[in-house]
Amino acid sequence: MSELRIEGLRVTVGDTEILKGIDLVVPAGEVHVIMGPNGSGKSTLAHALTGRPGYHVTSGTATIDGVDLLTLEPSERARHGLLLALQQPLEVAGVRPVDMLVAAGADATTVAERVDAECERVGLRPELLHRFLNVDLSGGERKRAEIVQMSVLQPRFVVLDEIDSGLDVDALGAVARRLQDATQEWGCGVLAITHFRRLLQELVPTAIHVVSDGRVVASGGPELAATLEEHGYEPFRRTA
Ligand code: ADP
Ligand code: MG
Repeated sequence: MSELRIEGLRVTVGDTEILKGIDLVVPAGEVHVIMGPNGSGKSTLAHALTGRPGYHVTSGTATIDGVDLLTLEPSERARHGLLLALQQPLEVAGVRPVDMLVAAGADATTVAERVDAECERVGLRPELLHRFLNVDLSGGERKRAEIVQMSVLQPRFVVLDEIDSGLDVDALGAVARRLQDATQEWGCGVLAITHFRRLLQELVPTAIHVVSDGRVVASGGPELAATLEEHGYEPFRRTA
C-alpha cells in the first residue's frame, strides 16, 4: 500500500529553525488532519513539501513509496503523486486551468468535460475554470477551483493548507465531501491543515495530529478535535 512518509523533517527559514523534526505517515485512502496554533509551522510544512524557495530542509525525508520528494525538483514532485493546495493560491495570468491540467498529465480529449462535472460537485461555475488561472476569483472560488483541479488530476496524495478558510458553510460541506469521496474513488491520501473543527463534521479524519513549535506533539482519533475545542492548544503547548 502506498504511503506518504515524512521523517525527521527539519526546516529553517532565514536563520530560524521552524520545523524541528516532523514525523508523519499518511497511508493511501486515509484522511489525516493537522491542527495547531498560529505560527506553529503548519504552512511551513506545506511550503517545504512543495519546494518553495526560502524554505531550507536541513534534515529529514518525505517519501512516497520510497522516493524522497525533497530531492526532486518541485515540478517533479507532482509527477510522483503529490499535489499541494496552498493557503494563498497563486494567480497566474495567461494560463488557463484546462491547459495547465493537460500539461500536468490530464487527458486533453476529456479534460473540459471532467472540469465541468467536477465544478458541479463543488458548486463552482465552470466558466471560471475556463478563464485564466485564479485571476479575479474570490478566495472561496479559488479553493473550490483547487479541489476541481485535484479531482481531475487524481494525485495519490494531496496536502491542503487551510482549505476551509474563506468558504461558506455550503462550500465547506461540498469540498469536504469531495475530499472524502476522493479517498474512496482513487484511494487518495489526504493531509489537511485546518484551524476549524467545522471541516471535521463532513470530513471524517482517520487521525488528527497537533503541531506545536515545529513538532507533532499529539496524535489521536477524531475525538482529539473535541478536546482541542474544549481546552484549546494550551495543554499541548511545549514548554521550552
Ligand atoms: P502556521 O501556518 O502554523 O500558522 P507558519 O508555518 O506560517 O505557521 O509559520 C511558522 C513560523 O515561521 C512563524 O513564526 C512565522 O513567522 C515563521 N515564518 C514562516 N515563513 C516565514 C518566512 N517566509 N519568513 C520569515 N518567517 C517565516
Ligand atoms: Mg498557516
